[in-house]
Amino acid sequence: MASTVTLLIAPLPADAPADDVDATFHEVDASEPALRVGELSTQRGDGIFETLAVVDGHAQEAQAHLVRLRNSAAICELPEPNLEQWHAAIRRATSALPSTGEFALKLVLSRGVEHGPAPTAWLHASPAADFTVPREQGIRVVTLDRGLAHDAAARAPWLLLGAKTLSYAPNMAALREAKRRGADDTIFVSSDGFVMEGPTSSVILRIDGVYSTPAPSGAILHGTTQQSLFEHLEHAGERTEYRDIPVAELALADAVWLVSSVRLAAGVTALDGASVTFDEATTRRFNDYLLSPRD
Ligand code: PLP
Repeated sequence: MASTVTLLIAPLPADAPADDVDATFHEVDASEPALRVGELSTQRGDGIFETLAVVDGHAQEAQAHLVRLRNSAAICELPEPNLEQWHAAIRRATSALPSTGEFALKLVLSRGVEHGPAPTAWLHASPAADFTVPREQGIRVVTLDRGLAHDAAARAPWLLLGAKTLSYAPNMAALREAKRRGADDTIFVSSDGFVMEGPTSSVILRIDGVYSTPAPSGAILHGTTQQSLFEHLEHAGERTEYRDIPVAELALADAVWLVSSVRLAAGVTALDGASVTFDEATTRRFNDYLLSPRD
């Protein structure tokens, strides 16, 4: 079976019936040219995406990812995606992948081609990187200034904060800065001193037995992994909360995690050079849950 699958998708309007949806997909070889030079996604990063995990043949939290794709499209004034069509594309790709192992499935909706077809869309599934070390041994993290107040989304909606846009160059630059500082990852801090998110993950911390994550103010992405973990924790009778978290609280926490769809839960072992307790047992429980089939 193929370990990569690439589908070019002709996006249907949101309200179109998705009966003959297979005819809107065109499978291509990922190593062959497939996009036009005029693509606004590549020229300007003008588009949105989602990355979800496929674990042992199951696409994790597909609906939550598609709801966020729809929300990103609304923020970016892109045509509303047809969720049934995207579900069908995910099913088609998943069924072509091996039935065991972990894969990353990326969905892209771009503003399209200047003077050409718009929007454009594609899906690409490929084997996930090996995340055994961050999951089992944790990660060292530094805090970095995001350069924005935590309420920036309301004051400057044109920054498209809260949408998962393709403009990830600053996020990648922050990861390089973290590496230069001897760490594996970073937690962005707002210019007014609140915890935000990682460049590709959400932050969860535990203080006095309560699991907290920054309130989704619109300046950060509402993580599907964090939401799924909170549901799981609440089911188990644990206390969870959304709130504004002053950065000083990171040092008071008895455990901190960065969580995301493909790497899953990585416990923080050091923060700005100071060691943080790594709760190995809870992290293992988190990852066992996150690897189980989830809808
Ligand atoms: N925040 C940002 C900026 C991200 O890029 C991501 C995932 O890539 C997340 C949070 C976590 O989102 P999810 O748990 O849905 O993967």
